[in-house]
Amino acid sequence: QVKNAGKNSFGFYSPHMSEARRERLSLENDLQLAIERREFVLHYQPQFSQRSGQMIGMEALLRWQHPRLGLLAPGGFIALAEETGLICRISDWVLQEGCRQLALWHADGHRHLRLALNLSARDFERKDLLERVVAAPARHGIGCDRLEIEITESLLLDDAEDVIATVRQLRQHGVRVAIDDFGMRYSSLNYLRRFPVSSIKIDQSFVRDLGRDQGAASIIHAIVGIAEGFGLHLIAEGVESEEQARRLADLGCEDMQGYYFGRPLPADEVLEWATP
Ligand code: C2E
Ligand code: MG
Ligand code: MG
Ligand code: MG
Repeated sequence: QVKNAGKNSFGFYSPHMSEARRERLSLENDLQLAIERREFVLHYQPQFSQRSGQMIGMEALLRWQHPRLGLLAPGGFIALAEETGLICRISDWVLQEGCRQLALWHADGHRHLRLALNLSARDFERKDLLERVVAAPARHGIGCDRLEIEITESLLLDDAEDVIATVRQLRQHGVRVAIDDFGMRYSSLNYLRRFPVSSIKIDQSFVRDLGRDQGAASIIHAIVGIAEGFGLHLIAEGVESEEQARRLADLGCEDMQGYYFGRPLPADEVLEWATP
């Protein structure tokens, strides 16, 4: 006996299903409704310049205020959103909401702030991605150069001509493009010659191991050289201690993000302690 779970759902429940499968379907149904129900929230984590001591930007990090399960981190639902294709609608929401918030900060006098946000490989399958990305800041009166799109290395390793073209067009519009979690696929750097990205973010695993093993410092040293060689902006993420911040600066990485500087927080809390 199969029971329709509701007219808005695309899943069917059956008593023969495993518990895990039922949970997945239920989460999938909830995810489909989450935008209309306004259950998504963005938290913002500041990015700092060690040299100037200034906050240079914010990374928008998605959270889902689930009615039953509480506040969910992206690890709990992004993969599902990608598999079901719902991620594209979510990304549209992130773009709009992030730019709306950035416009408020700009209007408050924090004109130098940039906004970084994360896109998925699925987003790059859309023919209209460029238009959608460029339209969002324009709609809120923000320059495209205030926006940074973070993508992961895996997307670049596919080496798809379409992705290269989209990245190039984004850059031509002034949108910054960063490689997130850089270094995890360190063995293959050749893609850097073909992808006109503007920044790289050192993966937090290397920062975590700084001071514990010399290998991490050596890799970061090499990444600093790569960034210089390619003329890329460099930032480290996952900086949790003063010691890590100092070591990074010594190695030549001056822009940083991490719990040491500030945890991801709702928009109204994140600027409270930061000086304009
Ligand atoms: P990411 O883009 O690499 O983001 C960094 C993650 O590290 C975030 O986890 C952040 O909260 C966490 N983090 C920041 N500072 C520290 C630190 O000092 N120590 C440690 N241990 N962790 C730190 P979060 O928010 O759970 O996000 C996880 C991943 O989910 C992100 O990794 C990103 O890949 C993805 N994600 C987040 N928001 C979005 C979104 O709007 N769209 C898409 N497609 N993916 C998103
Ligand atoms: Mg990121
Ligand atoms: Mg990252
Ligand atoms: Mg990550």
